[in-house]
Amino acid sequence: LGEIATSVAHELNQPLNVIRMATGNILRKMSAGIPTPEYLSKKLQRISDQTERAATIIDHMRMFGRRASEQPSKIDPTELVRSALDLIGEQLRLAQIEVELNLPEVCPLILGHQVQGEQVLLNLLTNARDAISSRQNPDGRKISVGINVCEDKTIEISVEDTGGGIEDNVIQRIFEPFYTTKDMGEGTGLGLSVSWGIIRDMGGTISAKNTGQGAKFVISLPQAGD
Ligand code: ADP
Repeated sequence: LGEIATSVAHELNQPLNVIRMATGNILRKMSAGIPTPEYLSKKLQRISDQTERAATIIDHMRMFGRRASEQPSKIDPTELVRSALDLIGEQLRLAQIEVELNLPEVCPLILGHQVQGEQVLLNLLTNARDAISSRQNPDGRKISVGINVCEDKTIEISVEDTGGGIEDNVIQRIFEPFYTTKDMGEGTGLGLSVSWGIIRDMGGTISAKNTGQGAKFVISLPQAGD
């Protein structure tokens, strides 16, 4: 807990510092006269963006603490995929990313919390989108989401992209809290570590590998009992 608390304090300090600087600048400008509307809106936008960033970090941290407060229920993995895509589908269309779905018609249920499951899929889909958008992509812009019902009674949910994959020295660290390769202000580095925690609490595992065209994340979960 000490380590997490220190990291959170550190992460929240960054947006707070930016806010402090922006307000300090405005106050200084005002002591010399009335600043222009352009100047003010630029600074206020900055403050607004940074409060949003702080709120995102806090929201993610709540996920860590939400464990076991409510009983998990039986949920349909295909529903998780569809709800997550309802939330982010429009963004993917705007980014001109094709989504390929491979879902079984009937799928055994798993145990968990719908919102948390959606959160994990949203994290994976957002990362896939970011990876694809960050490269000049000759091989197409596609995310494939699939569900596989395995013989050993586990359910595998996979998210595969054409975003170029993850470098070897990066892939071993991606599930660490606050590890990010994204620009300052863009990534919190919490998506995958929170996802890892949620899937662990559901009795499953999450892993990542490179496919050649991009990255493939596979979530493996036990089927719910009768
Ligand atoms: P964030 O997205 O805020 O950086 P995450 O924990 O979700 O935090 O991801 C950590 C890092 O893992 C990312 O910064 C990126 O370097 C890498 N990563 C995650 N998903 C992918 C992907 N689909 N393709 C390439 N790199 C990825």
